[in-house]
Amino acid sequence: MNKPYQRPAQDEPVWWFVISGGEILLTEEKQIPHGLLDEMPFPDLSEYKTVFIGELRERHCYLVVADFGDTNFSAVGEFLSVRELIIGTDTEMFAMAARSKQVADFLSTHRFCGRCGSRMQAVDWEIAMHCHSCQHRCYPRISPCIIVAIRKGRQILLARGKRHPEGLYSVLAGFVEAGEPLEQTLEREVMEEAGVRIKNARYVSSQSWPFPNSLMIGYIAEWDSGDVRIDPFELEEGGWYDIDNLPRIPAEGTIANKLIMRLKAEIDQESKS
Ligand SMILES: [Zn+2]
Repeated sequence: MNKPYQRPAQDEPVWWFVISGGEILLTEEKQIPHGLLDEMPFPDLSEYKTVFIGELRERHCYLVVADFGDTNFSAVGEFLSVRELIIGTDTEMFAMAARSKQVADFLSTHRFCGRCGSRMQAVDWEIAMHCHSCQHRCYPRISPCIIVAIRKGRQILLARGKRHPEGLYSVLAGFVEAGEPLEQTLEREVMEEAGVRIKNARYVSSQSWPFPNSLMIGYIAEWDSGDVRIDPFELEEGGWYDIDNLPRIPAEGTIANKLIMRLKAEIDQESKS
């Protein structure tokens, strides 16, 4: 197994996930840089924290933690939001970029122990920070969120969050609270945000969403009872939309888009049979 703080071999082309201030280094073609260390127009990486974070298409992936506003990588490309990688459907690449962003964030926010305040050390065989004074150990934080497409006949429940751009509608989502099973989060969030009861919730798939560290757990469910009452603290507006006449929805590559398209496909399939 690869240790996190090794470096790539000289003759080994790898993927380079360079993170600066929460943004990722992308080439002019909006791609993750790939190649041999010696051939990359990088600064001296001994000055940077370099972390092995996994494999993608039979190549190793390395995180390089750059400084905020670091200009030493400008010969490769520029630092942009990880969201740039959602455009298109390369979900593996997006997932690894999400991982690199979250590991960089973890390392920069766990330099000191939350229990005793001593300086923490990186563990050399897994991605973790350890306090040798009080033995407290931390791992990258992952915050689970449910996200659910709710159906009523040929309609879907969509809402516009306060931070969504004008005209963009999505499915409901919310954080799992401490001690809560996912089934309960689903019922609670849907009731709180839209005032309706759901039934027959089915898990579809999940997506890491590194803004800053969510894990979106996606479901499809059916409306059971209640009129829609949108929570004005969390949402701007919302309601039932005909599946054949949808407003603007989140981009392809997002789990919200996937859930909406899955629900539409299921409804279309039913009306054919
Ligand atoms: Zn400690």
